[in-house]
Amino acid sequence: MLNPLPSYGVTHTDKNKIHLDTGEILIDGMASWWSAIHGYNHPTLISAIHQQSNIMSHVMFGGITHAPAVELCKKLITITPETLDRVFLADSGSVSVEVSIKMALQYWISKNEHGKNKLMTANKGYHGDTFAAMSVCDPINSMHSMYRGFLPEHIFVDAPKAKFGDTIDQDELETLESAFAAHHQQVAAFIIEPIVQNAGGMNFYNPAYLSKLRQLCDKYDVLLILDEIATGFGRTGKLFACEHANIVPDIMCIGKALTGGTMTLSATLTNEKVAIGLSEGEAGVLMHGPTFMGNPLACAVACASIDLLFENDWQAQIKRINTAMGALKRCESLNAVNNVRILGAIGVVEINAAVDVAKIQRFFITKGVWIRPFGRLIYIMPPYVTSNDDIELLADAIYQAIDQQAY
Ligand code: PMP
Repeated sequence: MLNPLPSYGVTHTDKNKIHLDTGEILIDGMASWWSAIHGYNHPTLISAIHQQSNIMSHVMFGGITHAPAVELCKKLITITPETLDRVFLADSGSVSVEVSIKMALQYWISKNEHGKNKLMTANKGYHGDTFAAMSVCDPINSMHSMYRGFLPEHIFVDAPKAKFGDTIDQDELETLESAFAAHHQQVAAFIIEPIVQNAGGMNFYNPAYLSKLRQLCDKYDVLLILDEIATGFGRTGKLFACEHANIVPDIMCIGKALTGGTMTLSATLTNEKVAIGLSEGEAGVLMHGPTFMGNPLACAVACASIDLLFENDWQAQIKRINTAMGALKRCESLNAVNNVRILGAIGVVEINAAVDVAKIQRFFITKGVWIRPFGRLIYIMPPYVTSNDDIELLADAIYQAIDQQAY
């Protein structure tokens, strides 16, 4: 992305700190967009990459497999919800979404159901920057709307309205069902980010919406794709956000925190029904084979990152951060603040005007924190190793930025 905003030079990172070439040391509130869950330069992760690089940095994954990929797939099958027992390794979150869409389309092509060639999705979604992924992002407000004319057209339903923790209105669920009833014959899959629509507004929505989606997908013969790229690996308080609704998708995309934010890797998991179904068609296999698929360095560090997550008792880490983030609630006393919402290790302060990103970032740097707001949202999702004192400093910087109108 070409970025007109100023870029700050980073010399190095260290635990939950980002060091600028101008000397400032910043407490990281972003975990490099959800990914650096163990903080930076973790010795276990560095050592996994070093060890693997002595053995094999890369080898083509066509007609070849290797221990780090096999071990990673086994771990993923173990930790993801039951029935997701087939894994496709891809190279970024967006590509794992492309793969999920291709899986769904190929599944119906293999069944000679050529009419099921559209996707259904909710407004305010965000699924990545590649073409199929862009086609299921919010059609109006996403940063991709200028490409609309080049994208395949899909069916959009209202974004989930009922908030996490509120009760859901039956009307909302009935409207969703009407959309399924009207369109299911042309729909291959419904795709959505479970529980948190992040780039679409950091909305935490009601798990009942997801349960209803699972029910409707079963009733109307539509596959369910969940994009857990941001929410996976504990961030919302469950290992995967779909667990808030006790549902399992047919296809699940993961990325970001998969390697603890160290290397680019993603995965698309599916169940036996889809894996067998799509392989019964003419092509026989999924038509996707990226050069760096199953990169051994990325697989090795992903294995180490998953082990670390459990060794560090991620549930206790998230609980502690969730409590410490209560400090953000102080912002509610400020007139400019619409609301403060916290889920797992995600904290969001919504204000009543759009921020000037360059201006507020300059302010945050003077306060020693790295936070990158967008629109009316100032939000943090720090590494899980962030201390309570550092969370307090992040919350205080946000309070001061709003109080001093530094936006
Ligand atoms: N889906 C979601 C929910 C995301 O948050 C992102 C990344 N912001 C993506 C997909 C795309 O992932 P990547 O940037 O790794 O391509």
